[in-house]
Amino acid sequence: MSLPILRIALPSPLRRLFDYRAPRAADPAHLQPGVRLRVPFGRRELIGVLVATAEHSEIDAERLRDAIALLDTRPLLPPALFELCLWSAIYYQHSLGDTFAWALPNLLRQGEPAERVEERFWQIVPGARADDPRLARAPRQRMALTTLAQHPHGINQNLLEQFQLSRDSLKILHDKGLVQVTRRLPRPAEHHGAWLIQPELVLNEEQRSAFEAVRAGFGRFHPCLLAGVTGSGKTEIYLQLIRETLEAGKQALVLIPEINLGPQTLKRFARRFNARIALLHSALTDRERLEAWQSAREGSAQIVIGTRSALFTPLKAPGLIIVDEEHDASYKQQEGLRYHARDLAVMRARLERVPLLLGSATPSLESLHNAEQGRYALLRLNQRAGQARTPRLERLDVRSRPLDSGLSPPLQRLIGETLAAGQQVLVFLNRRGFAPSLLCHDCGWLAQCPRCDARMTLHQRSGELRCHHCDHREAPPTDCPQCKHVDLRPVGVGTERSEERLRLLFPDYPVLRIDRDTTARKGSLEALLAQVQQGEPCILVGTQMLAKGHHFPRVTLVAILDADGGLFSADFRASERMAQLIVQVAGRAGRAEEPGRVVIQTHLADHPLLVQLTEQGYFAFAEQALAERRAAGLPPFAHLALLRADALQPQQAEQFLEDAAQLAYPLAGDEQQPSVQVLGPVPAPMERRAGRYRAQLLLQASSRAELHRLLGPWVLALESLPGSRTVRWSLDVDPVDLF
Ligand code: ADP
Ligand code: ZN
Ligand code: ZN
Repeated sequence: MSLPILRIALPSPLRRLFDYRAPRAADPAHLQPGVRLRVPFGRRELIGVLVATAEHSEIDAERLRDAIALLDTRPLLPPALFELCLWSAIYYQHSLGDTFAWALPNLLRQGEPAERVEERFWQIVPGARADDPRLARAPRQRMALTTLAQHPHGINQNLLEQFQLSRDSLKILHDKGLVQVTRRLPRPAEHHGAWLIQPELVLNEEQRSAFEAVRAGFGRFHPCLLAGVTGSGKTEIYLQLIRETLEAGKQALVLIPEINLGPQTLKRFARRFNARIALLHSALTDRERLEAWQSAREGSAQIVIGTRSALFTPLKAPGLIIVDEEHDASYKQQEGLRYHARDLAVMRARLERVPLLLGSATPSLESLHNAEQGRYALLRLNQRAGQARTPRLERLDVRSRPLDSGLSPPLQRLIGETLAAGQQVLVFLNRRGFAPSLLCHDCGWLAQCPRCDARMTLHQRSGELRCHHCDHREAPPTDCPQCKHVDLRPVGVGTERSEERLRLLFPDYPVLRIDRDTTARKGSLEALLAQVQQGEPCILVGTQMLAKGHHFPRVTLVAILDADGGLFSADFRASERMAQLIVQVAGRAGRAEEPGRVVIQTHLADHPLLVQLTEQGYFAFAEQALAERRAAGLPPFAHLALLRADALQPQQAEQFLEDAAQLAYPLAGDEQQPSVQVLGPVPAPMERRAGRYRAQLLLQASSRAELHRLLGPWVLALESLPGSRTVRWSLDVDPVDLF
């Protein structure tokens, strides 16, 4: 039997497949779509994925080369996931080979074996007990043994940290003969005892009906939007649905937005389930990532939790997909394959025929619209679970009030009262650094980044000016570079400056700043959070890092220093983001018994969207915002694709986009009434960034199908435009940021 021609996707930006002859030694039975091959490419070797086989090739027989080696005996990805990659490449107009590269762990792209090798497990010795008298004075060892007892099938070496097991304690337990180490393949089928370690909470009525609605869809594609106010018990519903999934012998995939939510969420899951959890996030080593990937693929990990890219984790027996905080912008990848993990989760659930649960206290307008259109079941939770009450949102009009480092006098008073009552305060300001710019009081000179059209932020603590767009850093000048006078002043307020001011205003209380600058070191965020958890009165100052998922039971006052940026931004999504951020930050308050109060400083106290949000809540706001989007013909009522370009010389990028626009017009439909509008090119809102000049071209259509009909042939034509090699360009389908 003659070997077929192999059509292979290679990691290359070119949107095409490459033909090779099968390696001579290959077993034809192994040449199935989805296996990897090592092939010659120019003078290099590449690793690609077999997409199809064919009898004939368009390439002349003498130019056709042999693939070097077949690396797998079975496809890397299960059929539904393979299909998802094909679909993503087409939908996002990205090269298929490069799409696989984004979807696969690094080590597999480099040719490592996909099948698993043995691993080390720490396991409790049968008969060992945590109340062993030898552990009476060793609480850490006792805790470690208790954890191992809850996981009698053993804990994988790589997961020790996540279960808070220290190697030292385990070694001592090992010396005492209470713990053993085994090397083995993680066995998928072995499961000891019940799935639950911890009893479940009794669901309230709202929770129960949401739970039942999802459960009714087990075994088929059933997309649901769980819109529940913060603290309404969404996570408890996830946990109980996962238990159902485990009992049915299936796996659950849970996407979360941020890595720093990982440990917290994982702890909650680990405390509940006697199951193997694979955690996938960007801080893993390549080896750890491959191992987590393997355990999910083999089915030995029953629960997979991860950030955006975990969406591409293969599952042996998928049963349920959950996307927590589905509105979060971090689900959108902003480079390479510009996918949206939430949108791909919908497609994956469809291909895998499993229910999909999108959860949020502040759902995206896209998802709310889908629910209104009947594409998703809408499940609402209006009450907080447990004791906590929903906080009240108040607008504090600061027009003509003096602001002292961003703090108005009434707000200062409120902060003082809250602290005096023994409670905690959260001050939210979405701007890092000391001040967003440095100004010469004499001539008006402003510290500009030399590489970007942007001002530099003053960071007092580290004594530098920093550009937040390209990370350029320099020492602040002592006198004005323009007029030589020595009256340079910081203008505006960042978290560093509020922290400093709050320290002076409230010297008796600790002020804890939480932003990217104070939490860069490993463990520093945990240390800060631990101090807050102790419950002593204090002030937390921070950026949106504070808005995400944390519980601060003793915070009863949330102060939002500046809500106005979101109300007059050029970005049409800015008001949606502002509302989500306010509600998420507000949700940190009064999570325990004491009710919370949320005070929003604004110069636009009568702005209809802000009034709607504060008086009637997020869903009323969303209704209004959706009506505005409909009237303006903006997403989700229109579909966008953004072609970005940048180059070292001015005008190069715009010229490329001008040529691209010329190619688009004939594809855009009727000249008088095009089905796709071609808008631009225009310079990017920040034209120069990191020394490159940027421009963009926007395509807009009311029909998604019409837009995609244009994109396919258009993008192929772009690849052969004269400028396509000198200009860096990328297409963003369904862009989230329009700059
Ligand atoms: P969300 O994910 O919506 O923010 P959580 O699931 O974290 O909400 O629940 C918020 C708090 O309410 C948690 O402390 C949780 O333990 C508690 N809780 C959730 N469901 C219930 C319930 N049915 N009965 C009592 N307490 C509950
Ligand atoms: Zn000056
Ligand atoms: Zn810069």
